[in-house]
Parts: sequence; structure tokens; C-alpha cells
Amino acid sequence: MKKVGLLGFGIGYSLSPAMHNAAFADHELPWHYHLLDVSPETLQGALSMLRQDPWMGANVTIPFKEAVLPYLDQLSPAAESIGAVNTIVRRKGRLIGENTDYAGFRQDLETLGWLENPGKVLIFGAGGAARAAALALLQESCPVSLLARTPSRAEKFFSSLEPALQSKLDLLPLNPESVRKAAAHAVLVVNATPLGGAALPTKNPWPEVVQPPPSARFYDLTYNPPVTPFLQYARFSGLPASSGLGMLVAQGALSFQLWTGQAPNLILLRAAALLELEEYHASISDSR
Ligand code: NAP
Repeated sequence: MKKVGLLGFGIGYSLSPAMHNAAFADHELPWHYHLLDVSPETLQGALSMLRQDPWMGANVTIPFKEAVLPYLDQLSPAAESIGAVNTIVRRKGRLIGENTDYAGFRQDLETLGWLENPGKVLIFGAGGAARAAALALLQESCPVSLLARTPSRAEKFFSSLEPALQSKLDLLPLNPESVRKAAAHAVLVVNATPLGGAALPTKNPWPEVVQPPPSARFYDLTYNPPVTPFLQYARFSGLPASSGLGMLVAQGALSFQLWTGQAPNLILLRAAALLELEEYHASISDSR
């Protein structure tokens, strides 16, 4: 039985095992997707394990998307520029770092029809996911403002870009004044912070004192809970809003393809993820 897994810390909530194991069964592949819940101290050991049979690779999530970089043999151009890896592929004993968050985010926006009229974008966050979203949007010729508590986290990313893309990227501190400036005429607002996610369910990165841009769409990378305060706020303001479930499915499908060479059924992946999400919420309400 070949193995892949999710490398992270405190990841019992993940929908990825359900999605990938459903796709392996659908393709009749003798593969299994495991949770590799490791502490920062045992990360290096887990990566050594991934170099051996029967491991074929892994997904990587919080808090290791940047921490794995020094242990890998090669990075894809997108992973190198973003400075974060969410997928590892083992080829001939070598570990190759890829970033399917970047292409998965772009693919979901395209499915939503939100790339048809590219324009100004505001992204909350400067971590791996924010940089992946920013690269995808800059390549669509969108001017992007990254607003973050620690904007310097995106400085290396900024330097990695060619001058034409650098001229379209602004790094700003996270405060209402920057939001007001970046939001003027924005067509898309993206939350790439954990605010509103399972650990911070009441938080919204959008400051109450700033009016939302009148024709923007709101995209939250969080998919659990399915409706965050950020999405609630957008819908209450009459604006289109989407969770990150479509991105989760798209990035998972791209990882599956990198490992197995086969394209999984996206409808099956989405159904498996939704079912797991429902079971997760049912188990939480049972335990209350
Ligand atoms: P990360 O590297 O840890 O970056 C998180 C960003 O949020 C950083 O800019 C961080 O600022 C900021 N932040 C954290 N707590 C904050 C707070 N209390 N107030 C203001 N800013 C705060 O994480 P990531 O990998 O980029 O992931 C970000 C989010 O996207 C997570 O919720 C993750 O689950 C989600 N995600 C979803 C998908 C999907 O497929 N849908 C894929 C990837 C990620 P500092 O640098 O100052 O800490």
C-alpha cells in the first residue's frame, strides 16, 4: 500500500484524508492518505521518513509550509517565489516542494467567474496563503494590496517578482486607514488570515469603521466554519461571497495529480469534503 499524508500540527479537523481516500478508492489505487500530526521538534524526522518507501509525498499545512523548505531537494518556481510549500512529491528518493494553493486559488476564482473582469484586489494577510493568492492575481494583471500585521513577511516575496509585477504590489500595515485606501474601487477582497476560522470564529479582518467597496466580491480562504463573520458581513452588505472550500478541493486535486499522474473527479472530492465537514460539526454539537 503506497502512502501520502498531511504534515501539520493539531490537524484533526482536516478534510484532506476524506477527499483523497475517496479519490484513491474511485481510481482503484492501493494508496492511503494519513494524518501526520507532528510537533515542530519531530518535523525533521517526519521528512526523513517521507524519503523512504512506501511514502510518495505529502501535503503540508500550518505551521510547516515555510519550515519544510530547508529539508527539500528542489522547489517548483511558484513554491520558490511564494516561499511556501503545501505539497511534497517524492521522486527517486528526492523531495520536491510544490505549491498547489496558488493554482487552486486561481482555479476556484475562475470557476466562480471572478476572473472575468480583473481589477484592484485587497488581501488580508502576508503568510504563505496570502502570497499564493497574490501571485495568482498579479499574474492576472490585478493590482494587489497585501494588508498584514507583519507586512515584512511578504518582502522576500516582493523581491522575487519581476519588476512589472512588483509595480502592481503594495505591502501595507493592517489598520483602518490602509483598508480604506486599498478598498477604494477594489473588485475583490480576500481573507488569507485565520481570523474567523475554527480557532478565532468571532473575528473579522474587515474593520467596522470602513464601508465595503460597493461592487467587490469577498473570498475567505477559510472553509471551516463554512460561513465566517467576514462572509456574513459581505452578504449582509449585499455583496457576493465565497468560502475557500472550492480552493481546498482544487488544490487537493492538483496534489493528487502530482502524486498519481491521474486527475480525480472534482465532484467526488467536493462531496467527500462536505460530508466530512458535516460530520465534524455534528461531532462538535454532540460533545456540547
Ligand atoms: P500563515 O502563514 O500562518 O499566515 C497567516 C497570516 O495571518 C499572517 O499574515 C499572520 O500575521 C496573519 N494573522 C494571524 N493571526 C492574526 C491576527 N490575530 N490578527 C491579524 N493577522 C493575523 O497561514 P497561511 O498558511 O497563510 O493560512 C492562512 C489561512 O488560509 C488559514 O486560515 C488557512 O487555513 C487558510 N488556507 C486555506 C486554504 C484552502 O485551500 N482553502 C489553503 C491555504 C490556507 P503574522 O505574520 O503577524 O502572524
